[in-house]
Amino acid sequence: MTRPNPGYRDLKDSYLFYRISQKVAAYRDSHPGVRLYRLGIGDVSLPLCPAVTDALRAAVDDQGDKARFHGYMPECGAPFLRHAVAEHYRSRGTAVEDGEVFISSGASDELGDILDLFDRSNSAVVIEPSYPAYIDANVIAGRKIIRLASGEENGFLPCPDENAVADIIYICSPSNPTGAVFGRELLSRWVDHANRHGSVILFDAAYEAFIGDPDIPRSIFEIEGAKTCAIEICSLSKTAGFTGTRLGYTVIPRELERDGMSFNEMWIRNRTTKTNGVSYIIQRGGEAVFTPEGQRQIRENIEVYKNNARTIMKALDGAGITYFGGTNSPYVWMKCPASAGGDSWRFFDRLLNGIQVIGTPGAGFGSCGEGFFRLSSFGDPDETAVAAERLGALLRE
Ligand code: PLP
Repeated sequence: MTRPNPGYRDLKDSYLFYRISQKVAAYRDSHPGVRLYRLGIGDVSLPLCPAVTDALRAAVDDQGDKARFHGYMPECGAPFLRHAVAEHYRSRGTAVEDGEVFISSGASDELGDILDLFDRSNSAVVIEPSYPAYIDANVIAGRKIIRLASGEENGFLPCPDENAVADIIYICSPSNPTGAVFGRELLSRWVDHANRHGSVILFDAAYEAFIGDPDIPRSIFEIEGAKTCAIEICSLSKTAGFTGTRLGYTVIPRELERDGMSFNEMWIRNRTTKTNGVSYIIQRGGEAVFTPEGQRQIRENIEVYKNNARTIMKALDGAGITYFGGTNSPYVWMKCPASAGGDSWRFFDRLLNGIQVIGTPGAGFGSCGEGFFRLSSFGDPDETAVAAERLGALLRE
């Protein structure tokens, strides 16, 4: 008899966004016509920039022209896009070869698929509060998960812990949900730890474009020694508004080897087996992101989100509320006020019912997220301004 993967039995219900949508739907039913203000969204609100849409249109025309038509794309990515991404790293002084870049259809797909490179007996350490996919992907694979709690005391940036050694280490910087960013020194400690124990770091850099501080690494490969212990997973979703268009990239250094096996070569083998590549049209759109004009235009959008974050932080500052993130990150991770009893769902209800603002309860990102609340800067600026003003007023009461 077929035996289903028992990992699915061990998965916890992903009730965070489901429960939020239930509560919002119930509120709408009992308050028809009342406007709600979203500070909870993880999706972008601005469209693709003109450099990208022009490139997409031109690529559609290519596909309709016999002389310029493209069939299957290379499984690991079109050479023009692998080159554009590698050049982007090199322009910032980070040595990455074209052949170390793999084009993906987004970081989510990649975070799941990349686990094919690791033996099932490998354990994984996940820093909590965490992006839920790290835990779920490893539960499905039946791996042992070590949860490394972080909190206010370390600014949600824990040091490597000799009591929490694992084969796979997840680091997300800037972090979703806490907005915390790993500095050079702390990241060096994690790289040394991984090299010492033979672990591999899966570095999720989905929000790297929000780092404005030149002293904070945007890539783990800015850290000496990272090429022998890290894989970097990136996305154009938040960088360039590709959430619905789908495109990402992953960097696997040639130096990354364990047991005489090259992770770069294994990934080539994996991709040539499991995918026929990302659409030509979308890859041309992605290429446009890395042109000078594309970079200028995506920066304008990122600035809009950064301004939203500033608006939110100003409201919290005015109310004397402790928070993390917001500066080099699209997320602001605020401490629930004492009046909510440190209960992030209670705070959620208060915001929804009292000021019609929707955020995300920290409890949904692991138990040490309880007592905190995630606010997102990806919303519309006018909506964000109203929501922040209402939030500030409520917190000052
Ligand atoms: N990693 C983190 C930390 C995220 O927050 C997200 C999306 O919200 C992703 C990965 C997935 O990004 P993508 O849209 O490229 O699948």
